[in-house]
Amino acid sequence: MQIAIATERLAGEHRVAATPETVKKLVAMGHTVVIEAGAGRHAAAPDAAYSEAGATLAASRAAALGQGDIVLTVRPLPADAIAELKDGAVLIGQLAPYHNDTFPLLAAKQVSAFAMELLPRTTRAQSMDVLSSQNNIAGYRAVLLATHYYPRFMPMLMTAAGTVKPARVLIMGVGVAGLQAIATAKRLGAVVEATDVRASTKEQVESLGGKFIEVPMSEEEKKANDGVYAKEMSDDYKQRQAELVAKHARAADIIITTALIPGKKAPTLISAEVVQAMKPGSVIIDLAAEAGGNCAQTVPGEVITTDNGVTVVGLTNLPGMVAADASSLYAKNLFTFLGLMLSKEGYTLNLEDDLLAATLVTHAGEVRFPAANVANP
Ligand code: NAD
Repeated sequence: MQIAIATERLAGEHRVAATPETVKKLVAMGHTVVIEAGAGRHAAAPDAAYSEAGATLAASRAAALGQGDIVLTVRPLPADAIAELKDGAVLIGQLAPYHNDTFPLLAAKQVSAFAMELLPRTTRAQSMDVLSSQNNIAGYRAVLLATHYYPRFMPMLMTAAGTVKPARVLIMGVGVAGLQAIATAKRLGAVVEATDVRASTKEQVESLGGKFIEVPMSEEEKKANDGVYAKEMSDDYKQRQAELVAKHARAADIIITTALIPGKKAPTLISAEVVQAMKPGSVIIDLAAEAGGNCAQTVPGEVITTDNGVTVVGLTNLPGMVAADASSLYAKNLFTFLGLMLSKEGYTLNLEDDLLAATLVTHAGEVRFPAANVANP
């Protein structure tokens, strides 16, 4: 099979969907790879490395995509790129299934498109799980961004000129990104607190040396939230959570929010009043900015400083800021996923496979999402 990769076109998207390492493996399996020249430039993967790995370089996006039986991508393809695909091609990547209005275009071209965000969070899927590999990086980068905007030290320092207190970091939402943020902030010497609607995260927070902040919950609420993904909470819960958050936010120097609910707008966890009550110099890093933000004052893509001196960072695509390692892990995820359909003999689509069935959003001229999506709770 011919596998094609184009340069990502979204501003600031520096990742690439295949690396010289994964290209080499695909070529060793007997496939051919065509990649648009410059696709890996910002991810420490120059054209020469792809050529050395056995890929052919294409001079334009159309020249790359037009040759692909299978196309790998980091972001959804825009309509003009879909027009450049071969009829009946296979497309694999983060296709933003909840916000993508191009699926009918893909279906019209008989494209079999796989949205990697819909992969079930099961043990078998772990090595292909792009949300995990990328959110892990986002959690790490969030802490480094915080250190950049925070005008004080992170660790405690005892110097001849005086003692500096350690930063107090509050992490809201303890999924993959939140756990990595806890670990990274601890490594930098911060005092870390964390909270989540899933009570089962308490143990994970404590095992990383953080203090878990528990919103009082009924047994019924705990049970409703013991799944993989969080559910939207009742107004009553939100009220209890807001009171607790307000108290802890006032004491925090840095807040990192990561709370997401798949397919929905991110819950607002920090109101404008809470920001108003925070200390000057404190920083909020809102990892949910792209999904509407966990902080009422977040402006997606921007960094603002409020009148009372709180910096609210709404920058998006943090994994793209660590483009080389993010691409390396992402490309490995896709390579492993390709293993579900590719062999030396060629391509087979087995719709009995739960991972393929859950991620396939367009096929045989039809849009299958959300109806056929079994992974989404
Ligand atoms: P996510 O990005 O969907 O959400 C981030 C966190 O925000 C979650 O922990 C969620 O509970 C929390 N959250 C949502 N609403 C909230 C609110 N109102 N207040 C506070 N917190 C709120 O999560 P994720 O990182 O994708 O992880 C989701 C789940 O998948 C976790 O249970 C994780 O352990 C699991 N997981 C499983 C595997 C696997 O077994 N293959 C791999 C990775 C992750």
